[in-house]
Amino acid sequence: MPRHSLGGKRVAGYHRGMPHAHLELNRPTGDEVKTTTCYMCACRCGIRVHMQDGRVRYIDGNPNHPVNGGVICAKGSSGIMQHYSPARLSKPLLRVGERGAHEFREIEWDEALALATQWLHDIRARNPDELAFFTGRDQSQALTGWWAQQFGTINYAAHGGFCSVNMAAAGMYTFGGSFWEFGEPDWDRTKYLMLWGVAEDHDSNPIKLGLGKLKSRGAKIVAINPVRTGYASIADEWVPVNPGTDGLLAGALIHELLRTDRIDFEYLVRYTNAHHLVIHDPGAADDGLIARDADGKPLCAVRDLTQAPNPHPCPSPDGRGDSSLLPPGEGARRADEGTHTRYRVTNATQADIAPLIAGEYTLPDGRTAVPAFQLIAARFITDDYAPDNVSARCGVDAATIRRLAGELAHVAFEEAIELPIGWTDTHGRRHATMLGRPVSMHAMRGIAAHANGFQTCRTIHLLQILLGAIDTPGSYRYHPPYPRPAPPGNKPAKSRRTDGSLTGNPLGYPQSPDDLLVDAEGRPRRLDHAFSWEFPLAAHGLLQSVIRNAVDGNPAKIDTLFLFMANMGWNSAMDTAATRKLLCARDAAGQYKIPHIIYADAYDSETIAFADLVLPDTTYLERHDCISLLDRPISGCDHAADAIRQPVVAPDRDVRPFQDVLLDLGARLNLPNMADADGRPIYRNYADYMVRHERAPGVGMLAGWRGADGSRTGRGAPNPDQLQRYVEHGCFFETRVPEAGAYYRMANRDYLAWAQAMGFVASTEPVTMQIYCEALQRFRLAAEGHGAVQPPQADRARVARYFDPVPFWYDGIEPPPPLAGEGWGEGNVRKASPHPASGHLPPQAGEGKLPGARAQDFPLSAITQRPMFMYHAWGSQNRWLRQIAARNVLYVHPRTLAEHALTSGDWAWIASTRGRIRVEVCAHAATAPGTVWTWNAIGKQRGAWKLAAGAPEFTDGFLLNHLIGERARDARYGNGDPVTGQAAWFDLKVRLEHDPEPRVPGHRFEPASG
Ligand code: SF4
Repeated sequence: MPRHSLGGKRVAGYHRGMPHAHLELNRPTGDEVKTTTCYMCACRCGIRVHMQDGRVRYIDGNPNHPVNGGVICAKGSSGIMQHYSPARLSKPLLRVGERGAHEFREIEWDEALALATQWLHDIRARNPDELAFFTGRDQSQALTGWWAQQFGTINYAAHGGFCSVNMAAAGMYTFGGSFWEFGEPDWDRTKYLMLWGVAEDHDSNPIKLGLGKLKSRGAKIVAINPVRTGYASIADEWVPVNPGTDGLLAGALIHELLRTDRIDFEYLVRYTNAHHLVIHDPGAADDGLIARDADGKPLCAVRDLTQAPNPHPCPSPDGRGDSSLLPPGEGARRADEGTHTRYRVTNATQADIAPLIAGEYTLPDGRTAVPAFQLIAARFITDDYAPDNVSARCGVDAATIRRLAGELAHVAFEEAIELPIGWTDTHGRRHATMLGRPVSMHAMRGIAAHANGFQTCRTIHLLQILLGAIDTPGSYRYHPPYPRPAPPGNKPAKSRRTDGSLTGNPLGYPQSPDDLLVDAEGRPRRLDHAFSWEFPLAAHGLLQSVIRNAVDGNPAKIDTLFLFMANMGWNSAMDTAATRKLLCARDAAGQYKIPHIIYADAYDSETIAFADLVLPDTTYLERHDCISLLDRPISGCDHAADAIRQPVVAPDRDVRPFQDVLLDLGARLNLPNMADADGRPIYRNYADYMVRHERAPGVGMLAGWRGADGSRTGRGAPNPDQLQRYVEHGCFFETRVPEAGAYYRMANRDYLAWAQAMGFVASTEPVTMQIYCEALQRFRLAAEGHGAVQPPQADRARVARYFDPVPFWYDGIEPPPPLAGEGWGEGNVRKASPHPASGHLPPQAGEGKLPGARAQDFPLSAITQRPMFMYHAWGSQNRWLRQIAARNVLYVHPRTLAEHALTSGDWAWIASTRGRIRVEVCAHAATAPGTVWTWNAIGKQRGAWKLAAGAPEFTDGFLLNHLIGERARDARYGNGDPVTGQAAWFDLKVRLEHDPEPRVPGHRFEPASG
């Protein structure tokens, strides 16, 4: 009997005669194993780093870790090549040549920190807002945001505005959660999963594990995406939707659910504001707001059983199946006609009421109001969202839309599940079971990165809510610390304390115009114009607009641009060529318009060349990091979790962890909470901060092993041995959610009490989902001339248009051509928006199309995806990962290729209004015919990343960002969503052009401006 795999001994007799029979398959991979957390993408899996003689030899997954359960992906195992990358920086650098020339001299840390301190000290004494501090795919925003707050600058953000803020903001304003790290499908119970615009990088191992469960159970997976790769490739059905029309498709699905009366009304009135009465008083200052009683409680209409029977029954939770709910054509019938004596208006938050959710009612003050659901139904039941009418624009046939809606409804209602888990709601009512709608959805950047992304994301959430499919068994589930109030209570800080620090974090969730950062004339105060009338709900800032605005001095000049891990000189910019020029722009006196640029990174990226001072960071295996519940959590549905990174090797270069450097700079600058009264540093380093810093009494960066003896969870005094306890436990901590709090967390008393004890929520008040977003209406009212803070005249139509409290779809916005004088014509002037309570819909499909000639000039949509095997731009210089792809091509549907008389392998030009790039085209039948796409950030700037001169990334690879305009069609605004500022880089329109020598390889970029 052959034996094998026995105790690490040499294989004997196994496959005797085989060429590998001599291999010692179980030889130890090293002499030491250390646990830490992966940083090769944002999933933050637990890893084991196998060491040999003090060097990293091998990385695998930590089988005990809650995120990945031991699974490792190609990126994660390639971390060894990230750590030993030739592109690592090794010493602080001071620029000696021109910006962009990559000419530096190495300096010592003392000199580097002294110089940075001098610049920053002068700024803080003069005006802290002259520091613009922006980070990239950073995982330490709880620290960097806090640091900016102590410094006192409002000009801080991370990369979310460039990534998927639409997804996060729409979720937080709608149901106090979002996809990805805020929650996930109920992988164990869902029977039907819709993936909307999900590329392989958001997210990775967790979603792969989840999809594996679905495939093994036979659950249906539907991928809605213009491109079928990655997860979509294993889906049971691929729906090749046209880019930017997902909201229209979701609206058509809602139309069908309404038309066929497949709505979970009981869920709506229990957990949403569907029954809250919306004031209908055109011209009044509170028109469109929720009617409230003297105590501020929302009002609703309920049947008054003391009155005669209602001859015109209205839909209600106990009236499911009453098709009279659906308002015909022009809107809902007036339910109070002849019925006004049969209802009464009362506090909508009471238990055991049966609210009316359609019709029109008279408020105690004599005005009229309609339930929020009425407005939703009125919008989506119209022909604007009928499958036959949206089919051509979406690229999805009407029969498919109707079938998909039917499948969603069937699974939600006919295949409902019920778990024998008793729970208590926030009214104190006891429930013996948990009813589940086993339909779940996941969406990501493909939805978010459009100028209509915010409202599209809201529409998808509305679809989930109408099915009763948020936080029920089988549906989407929140991850602790979510849900939070919708929207959350934290608002962007506007003012400073006497010590110069901001009164709060620079980022937050505005709820009304009073929360904006604008001056007396309504102009932006922030450099990126976040939280201004241009982008009022820019919860993650607008990284992509910082350089242009800094050069323009708009709204004011800055002194120092401090970037961390943000490759603004390349793939973290739109209109890259223009951005690189701006970084070098000089004023009339010959001085750089951005006087100082400090850049901190571990690698010699494209942006290094533009820095005046380079602060070299370590790799993720050489430092402490904190994956905090205060930041971007790694919780699962049934547990709250956080994690650390520990240094598994000491740096072999003269580099320092950026977090340590930041705290060091803070102490040198004598910033509040970073230096004591004698000017001595309060924290030795980041590890010390992770343990001793308290954001609120007892609440720190890490939730595990708190209290002096480590016996407390969530809240507790700092524990000096905390990091050691994390290391002993594999560098993570997790604590279970009580079983009675497993679902319905928005209104589950057991869960909310636990969350309050953990410090996640301030109270046990239920989270009411906002199918009608009252916060949006407050901005719209300001645009109509109400309130103390109103938009400038030029912004009013835009705000009124897009701040619709009822989700809707509009066409994307295409950037303008680069040449002056080329207007877009009257065809693109948007119409003013009617009031939501009027029942009239805003303009719909096709309103934002390019005017005739321009639309014909650029008929194709162009999008990018991060590949599954690369996440950060730095992954595409990783030796192992480069073997998977070191160049990218343009994928085009075979029919589209044929229409252009091109064949796969030809070199051709992809052109937009910004210029054109010579690329190799490749036939790809799994691409929607009207779309072309490529992998992002594989193409590199020649000379960067320490790649060889002839590297394919330089010669053949290309960066599509070159072709994406940074300005919107109306050049006063950045190219982003008018609600959140999310970069609309998936709205790119292009054309294909022939090259005279299609068989001659070679990439080239020709900017439109010559
Ligand atoms: S999924 Fe991301 S975090 Fe997990 S192992 Fe792969 S690269 Fe690392």
